[in-house]
Amino acid sequence: MINACLVAVDVKHPKAKKEYTYLIPKDMQSSINLGDVVRVPFANMKTTGVVTELLDTSSCEPADYKLKSIIDKEPVSLPAELLELAKSLSKYYGTPLIDFLRLMLPPSLGYKTERVYFLQSNADNSKISKRAFNQKQIFDYIAKAECATENEISKNLKIPLSSVRSALTALCKKEIIKKDYKIVRRKPFSISYSSSSQDIILTEEQENAIKTIVESYYNSKKTVLLYGVTGSGKTEVYLRAIDEVIKTGKKVLMLVPEISLTPQMLSIFQNRFKDKTAVIHSKLSAGERFDEWQRICSGKALVTLGARSAIFAPIQDLGMIIIDEEHETSYKNGEHPYYDARMVAQLRAKQQNALLVLGSATPSVESFYRACKGEYLLAELTKRVSGRHLPKLEVIDMREELKAGNRHIFSRKLLYGMKETLEQKKQVILFLNRRGHSTFVICRDCGFVLKCKYCDISMTYHFEDKTARCHYCGYTIKAPDICPKCSSRNIRYFGAGTEKVEEEARRFFPEYSTIRIDSDSTRKKGSLEKMLASFKKGNAQILVGTQSIAKGLDFPNVTLVGIISADTILNVPDFRSGERTFQLITQVAGRSGRGETRGKVYVQTYNPESFAIQAACNFDIEGFYKEELKNRKEANYPPFCRMLNIVFKGNDENLVKKEADKIGKMLQQQFSTKIKMYGPVPAPRSKIRENYRYNILIKSDQIDILINICNQMNILNIDNKIDISWDIDPLDLL
Ligand code: ADP
Ligand code: ZN
Ligand code: ZN
Repeated sequence: MINACLVAVDVKHPKAKKEYTYLIPKDMQSSINLGDVVRVPFANMKTTGVVTELLDTSSCEPADYKLKSIIDKEPVSLPAELLELAKSLSKYYGTPLIDFLRLMLPPSLGYKTERVYFLQSNADNSKISKRAFNQKQIFDYIAKAECATENEISKNLKIPLSSVRSALTALCKKEIIKKDYKIVRRKPFSISYSSSSQDIILTEEQENAIKTIVESYYNSKKTVLLYGVTGSGKTEVYLRAIDEVIKTGKKVLMLVPEISLTPQMLSIFQNRFKDKTAVIHSKLSAGERFDEWQRICSGKALVTLGARSAIFAPIQDLGMIIIDEEHETSYKNGEHPYYDARMVAQLRAKQQNALLVLGSATPSVESFYRACKGEYLLAELTKRVSGRHLPKLEVIDMREELKAGNRHIFSRKLLYGMKETLEQKKQVILFLNRRGHSTFVICRDCGFVLKCKYCDISMTYHFEDKTARCHYCGYTIKAPDICPKCSSRNIRYFGAGTEKVEEEARRFFPEYSTIRIDSDSTRKKGSLEKMLASFKKGNAQILVGTQSIAKGLDFPNVTLVGIISADTILNVPDFRSGERTFQLITQVAGRSGRGETRGKVYVQTYNPESFAIQAACNFDIEGFYKEELKNRKEANYPPFCRMLNIVFKGNDENLVKKEADKIGKMLQQQFSTKIKMYGPVPAPRSKIRENYRYNILIKSDQIDILINICNQMNILNIDNKIDISWDIDPLDLL
């Protein structure tokens, strides 16, 4: 007989790392199930938790301490599939179960209700007096509508709200009607379905791609890599494949990199799947997310669209997971609990017998490699739809500009191109991967560089509010006009950010309108959508943005794209910097010439000979992957090994180093030849938020060993002033 259970308790206590046993009170024994959210006593408080195991303790030795009992059950339960997924992830990442369960639960247990009125089961309208005209009308209305709110009644019967209320009160008193509460669903966006569903005739390549996906869905369920150049119509392929999966009664989960991609994708999906679409993203309120969670869980949503965390959406009967722009780094969670949505998707697809489809114009080197080896099926779209050409890319050597005396952030060619494009009534997009105005504040006299008080990072100047901000911890001060060190007035700003680009574009082209889209200018909910729509309509001719905002956008009137600096990523000390630069240029170039006119892209750089830049500009995609794989193999980097990064943090640098050394020695002894260990060394960003950071990087070709190490880290004895975290397949070693 089930009389107890294991509960993963939702507390952020460092010692609360596992599940605890609780007794189930007699009256609840038949109603407690796996995945149920329950209230339990913990230490001296009450908290929630998830039932992860049902137990029968009657045959056990009595414990030498008294078990506590579950207090109550919440009206929310995790589907069994998710609980199973959380258990696998907890083992894989060596991370407490609750840390994954938390990502799967709805954000709050609050929901919005509204008051509705029903007829009583044996309602008798003869109790209504003949002269109570309103009451009679309202009775008839409710009888027909079955359930109605005050506002609905007032609006439809054209009776003032106050009269409706008094009539309702009277009817309730006579026990003719009763009131109740109904959960109201909030709509995340106001949806207006467009009626113009132009019929698309698929290209042969699209037909083939769909065939590959559908066949795999019905047969092998082997992961498909949809590798299609920008503008080749990948979205249409997804939509048709989704149609097919839905026909079989299964649900689909579609991941997109960031909320910024969602407006266009969202409207496409909502037009296609109407109210069968659910959306999850970070800009929804807690209540909205709760509602969507319920809708997905109850099976009312057939297609769920969302960013990284949507991989944990409570979908049962899952038939297919699509990851669009699969190469995007935002699929990796950069903080605890570290996870990679692509890895989670693989696991989830396997557990729920679903098909995984990865799509990209610039697949990650890892995925490309797997497709080459035959681990993935490959579906290719090599051409843009309707015979449109890929844009023409040109590398611009900024050193030559300097030699010619041009110190502007725009090269002469780009400037001329902008002028020409604008005169032809076309639009221009300028990309720069740095927010703010200037990335350095420096004193010309003493060389002082303004750095964050808490981080070893230089502060960025923001012109709009004349502040200097740390982009790591958010520390903000008024921008100094005299040097804090030598009091000189000779303060200068260097390193252009998007604000500066905007300023320069306005200065050169005052007769045109310029807008800037980055995370500073789009803080307000809905503002990004508005700005994008406004640009599409042609209200502005120049768009300045960080490239993360602009991927996947489709603006037919844009014929010129300027990449202000291709070097911002190339110069990052990371083995993936070449891959990222290649992807950045190719993706950004894909925004140009999506209409009738062939687009042009100028790529400004101080490293024109870089292989990644050259390959991207020549569309030598296969060449790039070949060379990159060769280099990775030589240097033993993924996909030829797996990596684990262990980070030690604390405000006492000596202690951080000591503990890191201790763990390093232990791992080296235990695993000696099975791993390759680098460090401990100070992390590239050695101090953030007053915390010193040391890294140990481990490479191994056996993932099981890395998993083993993670699970050891989880139960490690380490000075509690030190914070330790570990990250399998890290994307960012900084
Ligand atoms: P990708 O995601 O591959 O960059 P999109 O899916 O955004 O490309 O498609 C680019 C444009 O082409 C979209 O406006 C889409 O509606 C349109 N499109 C897709 N397939 C076809 C087709 N077979 N014929 C005509 N237009 C198409
Ligand atoms: Zn100075
Ligand atoms: Zn800081």
